[in-house]
Amino acid sequence: MTNILIFLGPPGSGKGTQAEKISEKFQIAHISTGVMLRDHVDRKTDLGIKAKSILDEGSLVPDNLVIEMLKDRLDSDDCKNGAILDGFPRTLPQALSLENDEKFSIKSVIFFDVNQEELVKRMLERGRSDDTEESIKVRLQVYLNETEPLVGFYSKKNLLTEINALGSVDDISSSISELINL
Ligand code: AMP
Repeated sequence: MTNILIFLGPPGSGKGTQAEKISEKFQIAHISTGVMLRDHVDRKTDLGIKAKSILDEGSLVPDNLVIEMLKDRLDSDDCKNGAILDGFPRTLPQALSLENDEKFSIKSVIFFDVNQEELVKRMLERGRSDDTEESIKVRLQVYLNETEPLVGFYSKKNLLTEINALGSVDDISSSISELINL
């Protein structure tokens, strides 16, 4: 059984930064589906070739492809102590794919709450190749349509804790650390 901690929140809310810190502190794997997909694009794998234009425009890669990639990754040795999922699930079918697999136990879902104005500012500062104004608009809309409903989904299961993601990196990291009981 693999223990899972989910970092849920809009693009630019600091999930990646916090996942990196928490992963180091608690010696658990940090899995970012966005990083994995960009790596596939760079290596021009079959998945990368399919995913490239989708990433560039800011929409979501089809569920079946992401789910397969993630489950493969969760099978690795370094996930034995648990894993932080950063950027997954992003849709209800993705959430159900974890729910319905008894290999995984979701311990907690941390919801990063940030207002939209701050998100756009942060993403433009980050300057990643998919951080254009057009793609940011699409990603925020996709987030509201597809991913935000998961806040209610996990809250009903009593798994959700909301954190104010506007503080300093260290303060946020301390609040998350207090919530972890893997
Ligand atoms: P991120 O680094 O999490 O912002 O992800 C960058 C891009 O990768 C997203 O805009 C999507 O195109 C794609 N992506 C990452 N995670 C997922 C996922 N769970 N489902 C579908 N597409 C994803």
